[in-house]
Amino acid sequence: MSAPVSSATPPFLPFTRPTIDDATIAGVAEVLRSGWITSGPQVKAFEAKLSEHCGGRPVRAFNSGTCTMEIALRIAGVGPGDEVITTPLTWVATSNVVLEVGARPVFVDIDPVTRLIDLDRAAAAITPATRAIIPVDLSGLPVDRDRLYALAQKHRLRVVEDAAQSFGSTWKGKRIGACGDFVSFSFHANKNITTVEGGCLVLNDEREAKLAEQYRLQGVMRSGQDGMEVELVGGKFNLTDVAARVGLGQLPHLTEFTTKRHELARAYFEAFAATPARALGLRLPVEDFAHTNWHMFQVVLPEERLTIKRADVMAKLQAAGIATGVHYPAIHLFALYRRLGWKDGDFPHAEYAGRNILTLPLFPTMTRADVARVVDTLVAILQAHQQS
Ligand SMILES: *Cc1c(COP(=O)(O)O)cnc(C)c1O
Repeated sequence: MSAPVSSATPPFLPFTRPTIDDATIAGVAEVLRSGWITSGPQVKAFEAKLSEHCGGRPVRAFNSGTCTMEIALRIAGVGPGDEVITTPLTWVATSNVVLEVGARPVFVDIDPVTRLIDLDRAAAAITPATRAIIPVDLSGLPVDRDRLYALAQKHRLRVVEDAAQSFGSTWKGKRIGACGDFVSFSFHANKNITTVEGGCLVLNDEREAKLAEQYRLQGVMRSGQDGMEVELVGGKFNLTDVAARVGLGQLPHLTEFTTKRHELARAYFEAFAATPARALGLRLPVEDFAHTNWHMFQVVLPEERLTIKRADVMAKLQAAGIATGVHYPAIHLFALYRRLGWKDGDFPHAEYAGRNILTLPLFPTMTRADVARVVDTLVAILQAHQQS
């Protein structure tokens, strides 16, 4: 006998969940039966659709949104002795790729309101060794592309946009990916569009696209019936046809997913406005409905006003059937980066956010009732744990 379940018990709410339709699942089965399951016609078709999305620019698909950034840096010729400016408030992949190519990451603090790289600080961090900048569109909110490219042009820097979270976002009406220098997207399971694991890189021309193909698969170049040449060290970064078929099934839903995310984000703002959340010191994200794809809805807890830490808040939400996430701890305080010289106090805004940022549930199949439950539960926890 199973335990009796009260009809009042709400189902457990994950913080994100992919939406994959039956036609896509059937399409994956077809690919599996077709006899060609690794990189082939589905990858080619997916790349063509991605290129269409990106205003006709060359796009190549990969098995992550990490290798894409590493490859962009290699194509740009970034290596030992070079500096690359980026934010400490991002997934650690963003700076790991800089180390991977032998260059040095240079972190600059975030703007505490947008939580994105502070471009004034980025400008101040430029040295003769600076070769590139990796801006990150955290939660899908785009870094100011006008100011970013003005800075890059002035100092002749390459840009690798870490747009892992901003597929479907726009800058002044243009899609992220349709303009700029290198643009890297991720199709990890948690991103707005998924291939289970995967990513793509938007390039500037066919020469870069050819190089990307070489770095993608062992440096191999094929020609004629049986020709093969290898001129550089490539890796093993190709996307499978199975994964590409998932991506092809996701793309037609992009607008619908983004619209749903916008609705839910609006519902969050409305629900929070009806509570004392702001008076309690809770920091909400920028109320942007022009640019972001609302990849995440993140709040920052007011640690100086609470008697409990983020981990306890998360545990209490979990006990109430609500999952939350942390995106992300400040990178420069990881052991690997401390060994390279960074320490507590280097980037106060990123550190505060790293300790207190909390990702609330947001995904297309969520409901407004779910949003209300999250807000009410979180605000009740904050009210019950105020410093006197
Ligand atoms: C997801 C993500 C990545 C890496 O993407 P993978 O596909 O998981 O390799 C890089 N940067 C940011 C900001 C991300 O969110």
